[in-house]
Amino acid sequence: MTYQNYSLAQLQQIDAAHHLHPFTDSKELREAGSRVIAHAQGPYIYDTEGFELLDGMAGLWCVNVGYGRDELAEVAAQQMKELPYYNSFFKCSTPTPILLAKKLAELAPRHINQVFYGSSGSEANDTALRLVRHYWALEGKPEKNRIISRTMAYHGSTVAGTSLGGMAGMHSQLGGAVPNIVHVMMPYAYELKLPGESDHEFGLRAAKAVEDAILEAGADKVAAFIGEPIMGAGGVKIPPESYWPEVQRICRKHDVLLMLDEVITGYGRTGEWFAATTFGIEPDTITTAKALTSGYQPLSALLVGDRIANTLVEKGGEFYHGYTYSGHPVACAVALKNLEIIEREGLVERVKSDTGPYFAKALRERIAPHPLVGEVRSVGLMGAIEIVKEKATRERFSPEGSAAVTVRDHAIAAGLMMRATGDTMILSPPLIWTREIIDMACDRILKALDLAEADLRKA
Ligand code: PMP
Repeated sequence: MTYQNYSLAQLQQIDAAHHLHPFTDSKELREAGSRVIAHAQGPYIYDTEGFELLDGMAGLWCVNVGYGRDELAEVAAQQMKELPYYNSFFKCSTPTPILLAKKLAELAPRHINQVFYGSSGSEANDTALRLVRHYWALEGKPEKNRIISRTMAYHGSTVAGTSLGGMAGMHSQLGGAVPNIVHVMMPYAYELKLPGESDHEFGLRAAKAVEDAILEAGADKVAAFIGEPIMGAGGVKIPPESYWPEVQRICRKHDVLLMLDEVITGYGRTGEWFAATTFGIEPDTITTAKALTSGYQPLSALLVGDRIANTLVEKGGEFYHGYTYSGHPVACAVALKNLEIIEREGLVERVKSDTGPYFAKALRERIAPHPLVGEVRSVGLMGAIEIVKEKATRERFSPEGSAAVTVRDHAIAAGLMMRATGDTMILSPPLIWTREIIDMACDRILKALDLAEADLRKA
């Protein structure tokens, strides 16, 4: 790559001059300079100076098979030579999206047999929103179009994704959301559970908020409920076991569709191919992206259940929606090979029976006792560490969010890439992590926590 002709300082200067980054304060970035990751192998990423970091975030929740998979590069190159692009509009198709759709129908829960492609999770959620409203219109109920979501949900950054999501900061810059989307409380026991309330009771109360929103609008006005099985960007918030089955029961009772956003949880992260299985629910749509290609190509697949798909096929009429890159042949070829790798190496099963439980135990036994840690939680290889000032009272450091950034910066210096959201530290590593790597990551987290504690208590 030609970057070797540039020094880090030059790259940073050019980056600041020409490149506006996502979810970034450009003024701050210009002052700090960006961290430039130049290459990667297995579970490690390397910056331009050769500094090695264990990637605790799998890129951005996506590189599930780890870095440096020649097979994926080869299959992409081969597909580019054979057919780099053709569209799937106007009754056309190409082989790889066809074969990938068949594969996804096999992997998905039994009642899901159709796929709509895009290039990102945001696009897939735009599709999902359009599709459920189109479904009810085809069913002769166009007024059944309200969508219920949750505060702190993340469903992407397009206008529809932002509107579906429940992030106040994002809404404040929207200048007008997609109409008829409402948000109810999130199932976040650590902060929202009442004194004396059990997790089970809290889960039922959070689910009841969904029913209250349905009753308030009238069930004949509500199209669907959308949620991430585990809220990811909002802080790896894992709902109590009682939550999802109760939400599903409520949706069925009121004939409201259930849309699951598995952009993070899809393809093995929770120890099942889909978290729908982990939580024992049967959603009408499942939004997937990220780990579908392990991030080697941009690709999303909205998995569409039989109820909606049958109506589309039986009633007919054009769905006026699609993207130039829907069913991109190269991205789909990479996805097929990526899924083959995940299956061949038994990564989903390994997370379920080996590394997932080991990760949970390591967090519980090694990280939770630290004085800065209020709670640890995980499902599969997706975990969170709550940073607090006072363990017993759960008091946080102020200003809000600053403590987790301090921990994160020490973790990076110690050789572990982690993410801070609010006062929560997040881990979502590649599924190739072994017990030894989990131990190594915990060593680095503990070092970061000790150093951060010294800084924070001194301040
Ligand atoms: N949904 C969820 C649950 C996500 O976590 C994300 C991205 N982090 C998205 C949607 C949006 O995906 P993308 O960034 O690919 O548009």
